[in-house]
Amino acid sequence: MSTVGQNVVLSPGTPSESLSSGTSHHGIPLNPCELEIDLFCKGMRIDPSCALEQDARFISRTRAGLGSGLEIVIPGSIKDVWVNVPVEEDFAQQSCYRLVLDSGQYVVVDERQGFRYPVRIPPEPAWYTRSTSRGTPMHKVGVLQGTYLGIYISNSCGFWYHSPALNCRFCATGLNVGVNEVAVKDVDDVVDVARAAKEESGVTFVHFNSGFQTDRDLDVAAPYVKAVKSRVGALVGLQLIPTLDTWKYDRLIDLGADHFSFCYEFQNPEFFAKLLPGKEKLVGQKTFFRALEYTSKKLGKGACSGEIIAGVEPVEDTLRAIDYITGLGAFPTVCIFRPTIGADMEHWPSPRYEDMLVVFRHLYEACRKNRIPIDVTPNIEVSLIVQPGDTRYLAPRNWRTRWYGMQMSVARQIARPYFWWKRRPKAITASEVLAP
Ligand code: SF4
Repeated sequence: MSTVGQNVVLSPGTPSESLSSGTSHHGIPLNPCELEIDLFCKGMRIDPSCALEQDARFISRTRAGLGSGLEIVIPGSIKDVWVNVPVEEDFAQQSCYRLVLDSGQYVVVDERQGFRYPVRIPPEPAWYTRSTSRGTPMHKVGVLQGTYLGIYISNSCGFWYHSPALNCRFCATGLNVGVNEVAVKDVDDVVDVARAAKEESGVTFVHFNSGFQTDRDLDVAAPYVKAVKSRVGALVGLQLIPTLDTWKYDRLIDLGADHFSFCYEFQNPEFFAKLLPGKEKLVGQKTFFRALEYTSKKLGKGACSGEIIAGVEPVEDTLRAIDYITGLGAFPTVCIFRPTIGADMEHWPSPRYEDMLVVFRHLYEACRKNRIPIDVTPNIEVSLIVQPGDTRYLAPRNWRTRWYGMQMSVARQIARPYFWWKRRPKAITASEVLAP
């Protein structure tokens, strides 16, 4: 039973009061990762000079509402950084950042000091306006999130159908069912879209995501994994509610899964219980941990992710989460909390930049200490999170970080032929249908 309320105050305001690093950026322009973090925290206003209807990808309201922003790319010397910037929420309307179109160039203007950051707006791919061979609009099957293809297998999540509802409190998925996407995806539609995304947008990674499917989650995903792996050829990732039936992970690996990620969101068990009532009641935090531990061991360093939200639980808990995830050899996938319109937590404050800087500096160090391979897989830029690779901009300048950087650059070279081989369509003999 949850003990929330006895010794933890869970209310708007908690994140802002948790830590204050005192870091500021008076007088110095931000580097691309710092700007990314600040944009996630503050959002951005859109100047009337912008022509986003013709220049940008449409704003998608799927995937727990996190993808509801505007995709931009911040160019940089180490790497370009992809960000899905909040633009619709109330806090974004108060932002010091404004996107303007100036002589054909998009620029993010920081109105505090007048800094101007040139950015790119990734265009909408041509296939978004086409239909599959079955006549389904392709953008209703999958969308680009950064440079990878995200497919929500089914946008009905069992947690929303309980009475009272057991949905995760930050999530708005239940409000969007049937609005932007086809409710349950057809395997042939998914193959058509994955093929178009691979051929026309250079997609290397197809990521399947799903809400709670009443413990059939991994079984439901199996046919999609096999179809994309054998008929299209791509790296395939899955983000599903976990199970303690670990043999089901073995089966998905046999069918072609390369990656698993586990959204357990909060390390602090009281925040987990209070803000994720469905995951607490019907799954349990330990199930997430066991599944992450099992698959990380099975697939090796950097192949699996623990996904958490920063800016809600105390920062110390987020740092513990990063240590736990990287200690397993897994990839820390850290979203900055976004108070999405319509979610129960809509009126919670967006996190403070200073707190998030502490989190992501720690993330870089944790990856370095645990030798987590960052930015090694080809062309996977995730716009919804601050990627571990983006935190290279936050690295202190010393021989340790230089050494890690050199190791990663060698790993990138070595990995290239391996990932090319992994992305070829592959004959799969394992059956996607479970024996009765
Ligand atoms: S599992 Fe939670 S975050 Fe995911 S769709 Fe269901 S309620 Fe939303």
